[in-house]
This record gives sequence, structure tokens and C-alpha cells, in this order.
Amino acid sequence: MGEGWDEGQRTLLKHRILFDEVAIAARVDQLAREISKDLPSPAPLIVGILTGSFIFLADLVRALARLNVEPQIDLMAVSHYGAATESSGHVKLYKDTTLDITARAVVLVDDILDTGRSLSLARDLVRAKGPIWLRTCVLLDKPSRRAVPIKADYVGFEVPDVWVIGYGLDAGGQGRALPYVAALEPGG
Ligand code: 5GP
Ligand code: MG
Repeated sequence: MGEGWDEGQRTLLKHRILFDEVAIAARVDQLAREISKDLPSPAPLIVGILTGSFIFLADLVRALARLNVEPQIDLMAVSHYGAATESSGHVKLYKDTTLDITARAVVLVDDILDTGRSLSLARDLVRAKGPIWLRTCVLLDKPSRRAVPIKADYVGFEVPDVWVIGYGLDAGGQGRALPYVAALEPGG
């Protein structure tokens, strides 16, 4: 259980490790291989959805680069109104992409697919900008929580209906820097 982080973090947020650093690194490499096989262009545009995807995005683009894919990076920010660990059902675009997406091969990357509202909005917005090829990639998927019908093209791991933190994901602003993905425990 998370040597090196223990006391301070664990008293702040009680959690249980689901995927450790080694498992995540191996899965990210596999995802990069799958994506690189499908890509119609060696210079895709990888669009990360802030904030939760920033660590996954960083590892994924470096895994792609090791496979001789030269990704360009853009970012967008989409968020549910309100905060904490409950999804309100309303999703808003806070930051749009800045690069030209017309005729590009695009991979849209998010940390976790939950109700599906965020990725669905982000995908519709990107699609409207005219990419020639558009795929979605998420590190984590909570299929049991889906409220809108969307499936990601590339999924790292499925998780049950728990609140996960670490590897970019937070709970009320905490836990993003944990090197592993963990489930927040009740009272944590
Ligand atoms: P959706 O729009 O699919 O309901 O939610 C997706 C977004 O909600 C994710 O990009 C993430 O920011 C946040 N989210 C959903 N479930 C979790 C979770 O278990 N932990 C964390 N930290 N964020 C989550
Ligand atoms: Mg997010």
C-alpha cells in the first residue's frame, strides 16, 4: 500500500490501491501500441481534457513517441457544475482547443468515463471542427454509472462504482499526485 506516501496522505484521504505504478505503466504502453496501430497519420493531435487527464496524457504521449508517433498536444477543459464527488448532470466547456483540428487525426483523452456527459460533450465539440479521424481514450471506465450512451475506443481499466483518486484524479482537490490509482474509502 503506497510506500512513501503513507502517513500524511492516508490520514488526509483513506484509500485502497486499485492499480499500482507498474500496472498503469504497462497498460499505458499497451494503449499506445493499440492507438499507434490504428492511427492513419504519424502526426496525430492528442487532445487532453483537463484537469484529471494531465498525468495520463503525459505518459500516453511519451509512450506514443517511443513508437515513433509524433503527437501534437492540445487541451480542453470540461467540468460538471458544482464540485466534490457527485455529478450534477450539467456539463460546461471552460476551455476550448486552440489548434486547427480540420482534417487532423485526433485522439481525445480523458481520465475517467463516468456518466459519459463530459466525454460526450468534448467529443461533439471536437467532431464539429472537422477531424478526418477521431477516437476517444480513457484511462478508467465506470460503465455502471453511464447516463448517456458513449463508449470509449480505448480503455485502460474498468472500475466499479467507487470514487477513484491518484494519477491525476482528485477528491476535492487532493490526491492528484499519488503515483497509483486508488479507491477512496468511506470516511477517507
Ligand atoms: P462524466 O461526465 O463521465 O460523468 O465524468 C467524467 C469526469 O468526472 C471525469 O473526467 C472526472 O473529471 C470526473 N470523475 C468521474 N468519476 C470520477 C472519480 O471516480 N474520481 C475522480 N477523481 N473524478 C471522477
Ligand atoms: Mg475530467
